[in-house]
Amino acid sequence: MADYSVFLKELHDCKILGINPPVMDFAFFDLWAKPLGLLYILDSLRREGNDVHLIDCISEAGGKPKSFGKTAPAKKPAPKPDVYKGIPRRFYHFGIEKETFRHRLMESGEPDLILVTSMMTYWYPGVYWAISLIREVFPKVPVMLGGIYARLCPEHAALSGADMIQTVPLNLEFSLPAVDLYSRLSYAVTMTSFGCPFNCGYCASSILQPSYKTRQIEEVIDEIRYQTSCGHVRDVAFYDDALLFGKFSHFYPLCEKLIENFPGIRFHTPNGLHVRMIDACCAHFLRRTGFSTIRLSFEGTDSALKKAQGEKTDMDSFAGAVENLRMAGFSNDEIETYVLIGLPGQSFEEMEANIRTVKDLGVRVKTAQFSPIPGTAVFEEITRALPEIRKEPLLHNNTIFSSYVSKILEPRELQSLKDLARSA
Ligand code: SF4
Repeated sequence: MADYSVFLKELHDCKILGINPPVMDFAFFDLWAKPLGLLYILDSLRREGNDVHLIDCISEAGGKPKSFGKTAPAKKPAPKPDVYKGIPRRFYHFGIEKETFRHRLMESGEPDLILVTSMMTYWYPGVYWAISLIREVFPKVPVMLGGIYARLCPEHAALSGADMIQTVPLNLEFSLPAVDLYSRLSYAVTMTSFGCPFNCGYCASSILQPSYKTRQIEEVIDEIRYQTSCGHVRDVAFYDDALLFGKFSHFYPLCEKLIENFPGIRFHTPNGLHVRMIDACCAHFLRRTGFSTIRLSFEGTDSALKKAQGEKTDMDSFAGAVENLRMAGFSNDEIETYVLIGLPGQSFEEMEANIRTVKDLGVRVKTAQFSPIPGTAVFEEITRALPEIRKEPLLHNNTIFSSYVSKILEPRELQSLKDLARSA
């Protein structure tokens, strides 16, 4: 385990450059995503008298404007890594290209330290790409790699070319994310809590954040005000893992403050909400506060899911949540439900039935394809039959895992589930 918290705390009067690398993948899903952890760290370092800069390879590429301030990032076809050869899907580089990145590095001038963040384990090619270009331009500048991939795959991340790999949560005082480093913000992101009180067998939440902590409401309000004060940000995405947990002492008081401070702002929940917590009162709070897009997690009724999720929901809770949201005024189009598919142990029939169950309630369905996450109980179970996933994070990719790695779904079965989810 490597922790560079003390090293970072001792930095003063240094020039520090943060990098959010490009993504190389078949698809790019989360259009709200921002490197929030890196932005908190940069702000914290700035408070200690350092001069901080940011190159966000995804947002700087521009792209196609989407609803609620989001952008689908610009992409170019990219060669597939050998592991993906033979998979009949196009592969892309999402984000700025080599010459632009080189130019941005040179333009920013030589820093004293470069911090590179990382997200999905199977996005490591973008991390390696960024570090190798950094090495070309600034061969003597130390590079520290942190983020989710570094935390979950530290041995693999040691091959990235970085000098330091941060493998545990940084012990720094966080205040506000340094979003002013963006030339233009079109939406805001925040978290009112870190971690999750549940412990689903396939989820890395408890590994990345071992204890569940809520933030002070005033701190969250200040953070939203800071990001929306430019005047043109109208959308705020909440990235909590368990936004509604402890709703009486945390979420409802937060809603009251949001209503008071941010009239006209639309709020979004890109991480699925726990349906058991959406009673009539909760649905009413969501509506009155200005939540515009509601994402629910449907954990299904089949045994593999229940085993992996500790039976944290059921069909009645799901139907009840949908009904409560409708009664509060949400339309079917505003309620989208993630249905997990491809979890080892699930049968095709069960996955199909889960999608149909949600569709029968009239709300929109989005299939969430399972990806094995190192360190989780489900990952460990899968490695008994597929030990190669320990060594090669590209095999964790959710686009290919169920059809080409675990092969629990034929490609045509996967397609039929996606078509069913999209059908009217
Ligand atoms: S899947 Fe959701 S509920 Fe389960 S541990 Fe992860 S964040 Fe919590």
